Parts: sequence; structure tokens; C-alpha cells
Amino acid sequence: MALDVAAMRRNFPIFAHQPPPFHYLDNAATGQICAAAAEALTTFETAGRANVKRGVYRLADRATQAFAEARERMAAYLGATRPEEVILTSGTTFGLNLAAHVLEARVGPGDAILVSRLEHHSNIVPWQMLAERRGARIRALGVTEEGRLDLRDLEAAIDRRTRIVAVTHCSNVTGAVTDLAPLVARARAVGALVVVDGAQRVPHGPLEVASLGCDIYALSGHKMFGATGAGALWIRHDLLETLPPFLGGGEMISRVTIEESRYAPPPHRFEAGTPPIGPVLAMGAAADWLAGLDWQAILAHEKRLTARLIAGLEALPGLRLIGPRDLDDRYGVVAFEVAGVHAHDVCQLLDGFGVCTRGGHHCAQPLMDAFGTVATVRASLAPYNDADDIDALLEGLEQVIRILR
Ligand code: PLP
Repeated sequence: MALDVAAMRRNFPIFAHQPPPFHYLDNAATGQICAAAAEALTTFETAGRANVKRGVYRLADRATQAFAEARERMAAYLGATRPEEVILTSGTTFGLNLAAHVLEARVGPGDAILVSRLEHHSNIVPWQMLAERRGARIRALGVTEEGRLDLRDLEAAIDRRTRIVAVTHCSNVTGAVTDLAPLVARARAVGALVVVDGAQRVPHGPLEVASLGCDIYALSGHKMFGATGAGALWIRHDLLETLPPFLGGGEMISRVTIEESRYAPPPHRFEAGTPPIGPVLAMGAAADWLAGLDWQAILAHEKRLTARLIAGLEALPGLRLIGPRDLDDRYGVVAFEVAGVHAHDVCQLLDGFGVCTRGGHHCAQPLMDAFGTVATVRASLAPYNDADDIDALLEGLEQVIRILR
């Protein structure tokens, strides 16, 4: 069945608040909050607020139960084998930094950490910092002309000194989806761990993280239509058991004396202090709602819109697309340059037409370098977008090009 976009929009409070024209095409930066998540957030903050994991009165007990249920909902959405594999965080950036700290002892002087030129800075900088602390080296997989990860010659890229391979599941600039299987196979062959940045993959439907073959998977709730401020880090259970804590503090211990502390079992060992309770509940509610949608219809819809967008962009003069033109193994994230015009100027003028796009380096400067540019305009799609949004962008662009040239 075709997607009923009008019905889909009714699940997103933003459309009742933003007067038309409103064409939100900045979903890779943050998706709009869905009604289920907004309700979970406000209900907790206004009618059910208590700290979790420590109170014995009923209000606190209910908050603790809701928190545990959010973990279960995330585990189900991700396809984790058990809820304990899911560490609740404040987002992808926090999760990847956590990973880079708890894996520290596995990296030694002269070892290598492999990232890629397709990564968001949050999947590069924490690894650079780890490499510096341990005297290791950073290596990077390149990108193809299409803006996909270049997976040729993995034997050379991943050798016996490689301890960690950290790659994105979906690029936040080109929309390309990474074929993880060959990377995982090669990493396994040399005993390296695979860390995946799933920030741009999770808004596109439930996944089977346990069968991807990776060891760690990071994501943000706000990109999957939850609130800002929460995320999750999935860690394969047998690895999880072996890892030391990251931050020290309350709730991550089993016993503290002045001399020493014993740590709580995972996942609590990695969740020091009061967590972002409301945003976590919202993320769980979003996951639950997303899990019940017709993804075949949504993905077909997004594919049609992506095709319309790419064809429209290709028909405009002086435009350079950064990313694949084909519609397979990619999501609706499309970046482009307008010759001779800075991306910020394009986005600012598009705003005048009610079109929200993002301009800049998208926290992916190594990718910008690979394409010989400093900034692009990016349009990114969600299930609530329709052909009107695409046409408004294309018509706006036509006028912007006329004004700015
Ligand atoms: N990784 C990718 C691929 C992203 O697109 C983003 C955000 O745009 C991040 C990581 C960082 O996410 P957050 O800012 O929610 O921590």
C-alpha cells in the first residue's frame, strides 16, 4: 500500500505549529519529534517525574520501570539479543566517545585504528584522541567518486596491527549505505573490533544489529523522531562483559569504600549519574512507534522522492551532486553544490521559500576534502515529506540560482 503522507504528518506535532509554507528537509540533522515520543517526554516531566534506579516509593518505582521498558523497546527495535546490551546515553557522540574509552586497553603503540573519509567527525575525533593516548596510528578508507566507502583492497587496509575498524552505516552527506559484511569479515580475520555509527541508519526502520557482525553500534534518539538528549550504544554481550567503566559516579557501582569501588554489571556500569530520563523514555516510545510502521511503503515512498529530487537537481544548471545517483543502497540524504555560490547563502535564501535545508561541511571535513570543496547544501528526507517538499526545494533553487548568479 502507498504511504498516506497526510496521516503520517498527523503523528508529528510540528505540522500543527509551523504555518505553511513549511518544507522540512533537514532530517539528517534532526528528525521532528513524533507524537508518541512527545507524549512520553511531557508525561514523564509533568506527571511522573522521579529519579530512576534509587527510589522505593511508587512514583520512583514507576519511573524506574518506564526506564527499563525504554531499554527493552530499544533492544527490540535494534534487534539486540538482550536488553542489557543496550547502554542508554545522551547520543551518538557520547556513545562513540564511550566506546573509544572502554576500548583503550585493546590498543597499543604502533597499532592501527581504521576510520573512513565518509565519517562524521564524531566517528573520527574520539579515535584520534585514543590513538594519541596510546601511540597508535589512524588510517582511513577512501571514498569512491560516487561518495560510497571504497571497499577495494580491504586486505591491505585492515592488517594484523588493526585493532579497531570504525565506520558509518549510512553517510550523513551522501546517503550511501555501507556494505558492512566484507569489512566485518576482514576485521574478524585479523581479530579487530568493528564499531558502527548508526546515527543515519536508525530513522529508516528496525534493524538486526546482532546479525550485522559488528561489535558496537551507536545512535541518537533525536534522529529517529525522539527528543534531543538521548541515544543508545549497543555492545555485543560477550564483549560488554569484559569492558571497564567509562565515567565514575553514582549508579555504576555495586559497592564503594574510601579505598576502592566494585562496579555494577553492564549496562549500569556504563551509566554513571542521573540519565536523561525523559529523552530516553521518548526514544523508547519513538522506537516502539517506528517498529509498528509499514517500512516497505515508507522506503518505497522515500525512494520515489529521492529519485524526484535527484532528477530535479540534475536538470538545474551549474549544480554538482556529491553522492550516488542510483537509488539502491542509499537513503534520501542528498548533498550538492551550486557553482560559485556558498552553501549558506543558498540555504538562507531557500528559507525565504519555507524550505529548511542545511549548508556547510556537515561535520565531515575529510569528505569535503575528498570532493575538493568546503561546503555543500544538503536535503534529507523523512516519512512525512512529500512531492510538494521536493518541488518547493527545486523551484526555490531555480530562483536562488537566478538571484545569486
Ligand atoms: N554520526 C552521524 C553520521 C551523524 O549524522 C551525526 C549527527 O549529525 C552524528 C554522528 C552525531 O550525532 P549527535 O550529534 O546526535 O551525537
